[in-house]
Amino acid sequence: MRIASLGSGSKGNATLVQHGDTTLLVDNGFSLRKFTQRLERFEIDPGSIDALLLTHEHGDHSGGVERLCVAHSIPLWTAVGTARAVLSPQFEYRRLVAGQSITIGDIEVLPVTVPHDANEPLQFIFHQIDIGKRLGILTDTGHITRHIVDSFSCLDALLLEFNYDSEMLERGPYPEMLKQRVGGNHGHLSNDQSLDLLRRIDTSSLNCLIAAHISEKNNSAEIVDALIRQLDAVPVPVLANQEAGFDWISI
Ligand SMILES: [Zn+2]
Ligand SMILES: [Zn+2]
Repeated sequence: MRIASLGSGSKGNATLVQHGDTTLLVDNGFSLRKFTQRLERFEIDPGSIDALLLTHEHGDHSGGVERLCVAHSIPLWTAVGTARAVLSPQFEYRRLVAGQSITIGDIEVLPVTVPHDANEPLQFIFHQIDIGKRLGILTDTGHITRHIVDSFSCLDALLLEFNYDSEMLERGPYPEMLKQRVGGNHGHLSNDQSLDLLRRIDTSSLNCLIAAHISEKNNSAEIVDALIRQLDAVPVPVLANQEAGFDWISI
């Protein structure tokens, strides 16, 4: 299994997961033109994407979903609440239910419910059916629940949100209401909250850690990198960024 990102952050997210003959796309917050440009370097034909999995309705994840799916006849999977919030009423999608795995080609996908200020937000765990490796994606989460700790333990790879540094958010340029939303229980994970998750889950099989959705205003890649390197039993992180995402990483 391998993973790549076309971009990660509040201006747009799109993540590729590939195994065997199966290519999945998680979210697309980019216009069709930008998505097509950004996809070029990964040498994937957009028409070969087997499914798009939409986590939630916020524009940085959903902004380019419907147009992309229509343009290339890509099946869209999402929760009912997300579909109601963002899709055109006539748009046909396939329903995801938290806790119920689906199989698409060579990959099994488990949707996991998370606390976030959206209708029915989901994050995902991908299971490579033949070899058994597991990859988790966890962004846009307001706080760590017991369910998240249980679900994201014993993974081989994890893409994890490190959204903000608490002090930088506090002193930063965001208006007070936005600070409260981002830092609240249904906002985003701070560096401290994500480190706490890494301490609470079993990381003994984790050989790939990607820090993602890093705020350009309220955090820095250098801070995140230094914090993660202080932990024992956690691999040196790959840092996803808004402009370039990251190149293919094999798991
Ligand atoms: Zn969100
Ligand atoms: Zn987001």
